[in-house]
Amino acid sequence: MFSNLAPKLLGLGFPSIKVRGKDNHIYLTFDDGPDPIFTPQIIRICRDFSIKATFFVLGERIEANGTEIIKELIQDGHTVGSHSYQHRSMLFWGTLKAYNNLKKTDDLIHNATNNKVIWFRPPYGHISLGLLTACRTIEYKIALWSFTPEDWKHRSAKELIQQTKIKIRSGDIVLLHDHGINAHNTVEALPEIIEFLTKKGYTLSNLEEA
Ligand SMILES: [Zn+2]
Repeated sequence: MFSNLAPKLLGLGFPSIKVRGKDNHIYLTFDDGPDPIFTPQIIRICRDFSIKATFFVLGERIEANGTEIIKELIQDGHTVGSHSYQHRSMLFWGTLKAYNNLKKTDDLIHNATNNKVIWFRPPYGHISLGLLTACRTIEYKIALWSFTPEDWKHRSAKELIQQTKIKIRSGDIVLLHDHGINAHNTVEALPEIIEFLTKKGYTLSNLEEA
């Protein structure tokens, strides 16, 4: 496999890294799913408000929870990006190790949805040269974030709403989670957050439109 990759690995340039989007848009992103409880709840909320979002999924969670949830995400017009196979920092990973991990997850998403994966978000936002090269080889764009209400820090729904109201800015890519011990608070906060943002005149988009 390496011999096929070698010419691409020797090429120049890096993948684009997106931190913010267009003015007057907000990009809600949900990491670490698909989760059998919380992802379907978020899908329903997005439907109720007719908004699009982006979900960065883990390969091992697709294997554990089946492909129905990510199929539903695609049917509803959301973007499904890769968050790698497992939730490990790739900070010290070489190109081939990173490439194999991304490809494994890419195959899982592609086989389930027939959709080409465009976006990748590295676990913890950790990026290495090897990972950049792997992303370029597999033709991924990298999405980080410009705002998070830090929903992984055991914050209540009320705190998540407050943080968002105070700190969010036009064009923000917002990091949230649809899996984990605090995901129920994220789900609880979401309707009020979406209502606040739409009343402010923001369009809530998925990253395809970034
Ligand atoms: Zn994550």
